Amino acid sequence: MSVLCSLKVCLGPHHRCISRKFKRCPSLPSASVIIAFYNEAWSTLLRTVHSVLHTAPAIVLREVILVDDGSTQEHLKAALDTYLASLPLVKILRSPARKGLVSARLLGSSGATGEVLVFLDSHCECFAGWLEPLLARVAELEQALVSPQVTSIDPRTLEVRKPVPTDRSPWRGSFDWSLSFSWEQLPAYENDGRKDDSFPYRTPTISGGLFAVYKDYFDYIGTYDDQMEIWGGENLELSFRVWQCGGQMEILPCSVVGHVFRDDPPDMYPDGPSVVYRNLVRLAEVWLDEYKDIFYTRVPEAAEIARKGLFGDVSERRQLRDRLQCKNFSWYLWNIHPDLYIPGLHRVEHSSLVNQGSFYCLSTEETEVFVSMDPCHGQEERQHFEYTEKGEIVTGGPIPRCLRAGALSVVLAECVASVDSASAPDEQTFEVIQHGMIVNLSLSLCLSATGVDVKMVQCDPTDVDQQWMFMEEPLE
Ligand code: UDP
Ligand code: MN
Repeated sequence: MSVLCSLKVCLGPHHRCISRKFKRCPSLPSASVIIAFYNEAWSTLLRTVHSVLHTAPAIVLREVILVDDGSTQEHLKAALDTYLASLPLVKILRSPARKGLVSARLLGSSGATGEVLVFLDSHCECFAGWLEPLLARVAELEQALVSPQVTSIDPRTLEVRKPVPTDRSPWRGSFDWSLSFSWEQLPAYENDGRKDDSFPYRTPTISGGLFAVYKDYFDYIGTYDDQMEIWGGENLELSFRVWQCGGQMEILPCSVVGHVFRDDPPDMYPDGPSVVYRNLVRLAEVWLDEYKDIFYTRVPEAAEIARKGLFGDVSERRQLRDRLQCKNFSWYLWNIHPDLYIPGLHRVEHSSLVNQGSFYCLSTEETEVFVSMDPCHGQEERQHFEYTEKGEIVTGGPIPRCLRAGALSVVLAECVASVDSASAPDEQTFEVIQHGMIVNLSLSLCLSATGVDVKMVQCDPTDVDQQWMFMEEPLE
């Protein structure tokens, strides 16, 4: 039998996907599709199930596992069992009580027999040819977690909004410092090495529950944090973990799945939204290192949960991080999400200021009047800088000195704002903006390094010499 998994019918994905050939089916790994649901409508749930059964080649689809997360609605009980009895590939597992999507997905994945786990939400419609690209890609990159391109289904009319050529510019997952997921346009440099825009591209985060991953790899990487409850934060936790622990995440434009993006569902948080903050604190405490303070500054509710220790025990997750020898969050920001805006780090200890053009570190000269660029030495006082809440960039020596911007040059001067109430003079106030640029707003000039020299110059976001990163452990 020679069944080619090419995209014969191609309603949604990029037009170039039509001519692309994915691997022959027999070499694709088998898949278990896992769909957790809580009080999902009959029509949307079965639309999801049938769209999988209609589109997934029988040769790869091992099973569809529905997991009822303690739904209370009547139609999801006996009537659903009866209906599913006529669909031999579809199984249903039931959680005795509602615990949340993490527990439900874990219940589904623990019993899965396919080589690849494919998670979907319970209100999706899979487009023709959606599954093969996902399976072909994980078969190529076993340590990858891949997401389809998600297109929206209107929550009122339930119509699928097919991707149209004009909105082809790819979007990737990002986040903000309140740890909310967001979308952003793919930066140009991520196109390097892609033959055309039907090819996979990297994403710093994934939006949620639509992705494929080898079961073995999912287990190795630590599945999910099973203490996260109900909803929220698990997608970012998984994203940081995969990247920091040596894996990667991609979005595949040739795989398209529709999803109902709904307005706030009424039943989202049985005990109020604090459950989301608790989930986010768990992730911050395990993966964010000193950057968690930025989150806590942004979200006082989370800071409170952290301060009172109301986020449960994270020691197992920290052990996982140690066991897998995962990299720190600076590494993630620097390598996977270098464009992310990082607000002032409040008095970060042991931080180096690395220039992205030269990868050299800002260094204090003996006199403590001038700064220059030197190879990074790691834990050296001369290369410690702290960025304070008042916008000063302060040396790490026993008597702190502050960067002071001039029309061309930058020097070190006395830190006038060390008294709590005083604000820093304009020349000693900097803002870290997009791309890690360090701007002095009063002069409208940016900190820049050329060779060993450090200067203030006209700001240019495309100039890597003006891009900086505060790093706990600089690259050597
Ligand atoms: N879900 C669940 N238990 C919960 C909350 C959500 O099983 O307590 C399921 C839900 O039915 C859906 C998936 O988890 O299939 C993701 O939830 P939702 O669609 O509400 O999240 P969104 O897509 O809006 O981020
Ligand atoms: Mn959803």
